Amino acid sequence: MNNADLVWEQRWHPLREEWVLYTSHRGGRPWIGDTHAPRDEEPSAYEPTCALCPGNERLKGRNPHYSGTFCFTNDLPPFSDDAPAPAHSDDFYQARQVTGTAEVVCYSPDHAKTFVDLSDDETSAVVNLWRERYIELGARRGIDHVLIFENKGSLVGTSNPHPHGQIYAGNLIYGHTAREVESGRRFFESNGRFLGQEIVAREMAGPRLIAQNESFMACVPWFARYAYEVLILPRRQMASLADLQPYESAALGRIIREVATRYDNLWQLPMPYVMAIHQAPTDGGDYSWFPFHIEFHPPLRKPDTMKYLAGPEIGGGSMTNESDPDAKAAELQAVSAIHYKKASP
Ligand SMILES: [Zn+2]
Repeated sequence: MNNADLVWEQRWHPLREEWVLYTSHRGGRPWIGDTHAPRDEEPSAYEPTCALCPGNERLKGRNPHYSGTFCFTNDLPPFSDDAPAPAHSDDFYQARQVTGTAEVVCYSPDHAKTFVDLSDDETSAVVNLWRERYIELGARRGIDHVLIFENKGSLVGTSNPHPHGQIYAGNLIYGHTAREVESGRRFFESNGRFLGQEIVAREMAGPRLIAQNESFMACVPWFARYAYEVLILPRRQMASLADLQPYESAALGRIIREVATRYDNLWQLPMPYVMAIHQAPTDGGDYSWFPFHIEFHPPLRKPDTMKYLAGPEIGGGSMTNESDPDAKAAELQAVSAIHYKKASP
């Protein structure tokens, strides 16, 4: 590695308003060998013990024999209007009651599929369902924020491969969105421009763009915290899924599938990730400038190497990225947009 390829500096994360430390000289040489990551058994389309498959029994109740998407209230929701009032609260040790709900969104009845296997119509249906739930839940009293996310793969704690995501909707504005409310507001008030669109303008012109269509773009941002972190941003200002026109829902579904496909093609294994949809809070405020976007955080640095959060991150509270975002973007650009399982030999 020569010095021109070295990224050893701190970069300001404009959404979170914090410094990220880059130490690409510590990331090791590029991986060129075999993969040693555990490969799961190929799942079948229906799994009798899966709590998400059509017709199966759950903790509470039984799933219908659904044929498209399927959404239900989480059997053990972290947010619920059934939560008890706090036993104690004072000025210093403050507590407040939990309100809201939580839902599970199944993308498909087919247990063996992931987002990469969905058709255009199916990806649109998932996006439209997310949009409908954001609007419906966000309008409820006691729901200030709707966090839609997917944990994919056992490395991020999901033991059930059935294609699904979750929705947490309650009286808590999750921390990253709360930071983005502050950064987005500050940027808009001081520049008269939208923070999300500023990032789009920078990344569309740069070397880290990995996918685009008429309505969205995907990049490894200059300020990525994880090696293969990807952001999907709309190419016009949007604050939430509620702003989507039908053709934009379709475009969003396609670009999510392309990002997930490129991830899988990197090492020809199902790439684990945490995907989070960051949207304007639903507490009644005006957030029309909020930078709506989707974040992908993959825990792997290499096929067999996790990015462990340790002393600097857990102990110190600041992120270290041992890679160069330009180089990681180049790897995701170099692989096919056709999934390796579907590509002809
Ligand atoms: Zn299943």
